[in-house]
Amino acid sequence: MKAIRGATTIKADKAEFIKEEVGKLLNEIMQKNALLKEQIICIMFSSTEDIKSFYPAKAAREAGFEGCALYSSSEPEILGSLKLCIRVMMLVESDNLVSHVYLNEAKRLRPDISQNINIALDGPAGSGKSTLAKAIAKDYDILYLDTGAMYRAVALHCINNGVDVSNEQQVKLALNDVDIKVVYKDGEQINLLNGKNVNLLIRSNEVSMAASTVAVHPCTREKMVLLQREIAKNVSCVLDGRDIGTNVLPYAKFKFFITASAEVRAERRYKESVQKGYKYSYESILKDIISRDEQDKNRLYAPLRVADDAIIVDTSNMTESQVLAYIKNKIQEKV
Ligand code: C5P
Repeated sequence: MKAIRGATTIKADKAEFIKEEVGKLLNEIMQKNALLKEQIICIMFSSTEDIKSFYPAKAAREAGFEGCALYSSSEPEILGSLKLCIRVMMLVESDNLVSHVYLNEAKRLRPDISQNINIALDGPAGSGKSTLAKAIAKDYDILYLDTGAMYRAVALHCINNGVDVSNEQQVKLALNDVDIKVVYKDGEQINLLNGKNVNLLIRSNEVSMAASTVAVHPCTREKMVLLQREIAKNVSCVLDGRDIGTNVLPYAKFKFFITASAEVRAERRYKESVQKGYKYSYESILKDIISRDEQDKNRLYAPLRVADDAIIVDTSNMTESQVLAYIKNKIQEKV
């Protein structure tokens, strides 16, 4: 079950305005979350004391929300808070990440979500991007897209089908048989390669190297970037990768380039791989990281580079919570 929040304001305490704005608010919640009415468990409204001429719950009933429980209450007046404001909480049967909706003057209540925010995190392997991206997504209740996983899924397909990842023609042909979909279950990104969840298969060193090679080809990148833009369209999100700020979402309001020395990054990856039960040595991980860096930085098409308007964060001597606090501070300064 998920709770979707929203709020709106009306021009004056008149039944017609209440009906109109409640209808708009609920429709926007339905659309933004791609909901069916059958998924709604209940809708609860509260309105400020200055709204008396009609019940929002009744307006919802009249707008066709009939199969669920509806409830309205009145809020006591709070000094300095919004006037003529209707708040809503909709409980729905869903595993998806939800989008909250704030309309009219109520946008002021949530400047962080009432406009879509895009956060681009770029940087080399092991810089801590994905841990950071997950924490940001959780804190702001926005979508996280790990774009590297998509290149990894393409690489896995190539490995499984004997495709030489360095041969552009072979990769181009193979891409015709690649269907990548990203879905979310309990907030986790599930990467589907031709309908199969490949999350556990795409983290080996072999796949990491092959992903970096397959990502050199414009045909791969074009297909992935289209998918990434489609996913990021119309939602607030944080994307991590190599070319998010420079190519995928060049208009993202917040751009960070997360980096650390190759040794620190290899050490982090080594610890991760031990935890996951892989038997790679630190030296082999360091070697792979250095050669991936070279390949990612030196490719012709959308190489790894710092966007002109990105903030560079060197995490070599920072803890995860220090990095998160730093980034949130920078975001807050710009909101
Ligand atoms: O981030 P991760 O290590 O999972 O990415 C795997 C590979 O995919 C990278 O080495 C890089 O070559 C490629 N990649 C990319 N552009 C992105 C994300 C990943 O080229 N936006």
